[in-house]
Amino acid sequence: MADLLDRTEVEEVFRILSEAMPGRTRTAKGPKGQPDAFRSCISCMLSAQSLDRNTATAARALFALATTPEAMLELADEDIAAAIKPCGLYNMKTRNIRAFCETLIAAHGGRVPETREGLMALPGIGRKCADIVLSFTFGADVIAVDTHVHRVCNRIGLAKAKTADVTASQLEARAPDWALRDGHFWLIQFGKRVCTSRAPKCEKCPVSRLCLWYARHGTREQGEAS
Ligand code: SF4
Repeated sequence: MADLLDRTEVEEVFRILSEAMPGRTRTAKGPKGQPDAFRSCISCMLSAQSLDRNTATAARALFALATTPEAMLELADEDIAAAIKPCGLYNMKTRNIRAFCETLIAAHGGRVPETREGLMALPGIGRKCADIVLSFTFGADVIAVDTHVHRVCNRIGLAKAKTADVTASQLEARAPDWALRDGHFWLIQFGKRVCTSRAPKCEKCPVSRLCLWYARHGTREQGEAS
């Protein structure tokens, strides 16, 4: 059996998901709901290994103190750490925030670059953060890949990759152009509602006839799906 769906099948999966899922969330919060690229980057850094509500609490507290790289560098490490404590790993994240702001000012005059390469060259910014900023702040047609999108894509056969970053590259190469704008939303909603981490709802799944995981495992191992 093939490891990946062919392009016609990939397009069919996106067509089905575009009809079955609600689409773009207008009230996105966290890194996706920030008013500018700087705050989106910082919020994304805060979100690492943190629940959405804790990230939001930390971001609110930090942005009450500073909303520009220059103002952020005026803060003491202890003040940054205290503000972002709710999202965990606060000492490491404080170091990343400081390094990010210093590099942003030194290399870009404080302006967040609008390319993936430029974003990923900044301390603390990986592919997922870069793609979220590109998509949600700069309006680029990019499918940002988080843990839900990574899982769903690899189960269905849209991608075959061990890491979310490789899944993102494969999606970029294989998804139809028309799906790049809102594909992130369809996949993430599908991953939360249907193709859940444990016990995916294969019996009610609109793409089960195309899904490679389902073709291999059927319903026998749903509770152990990876
Ligand atoms: S058939 Fe099951 S594993 Fe495949 S996409 Fe649907 S819910 Fe996920």
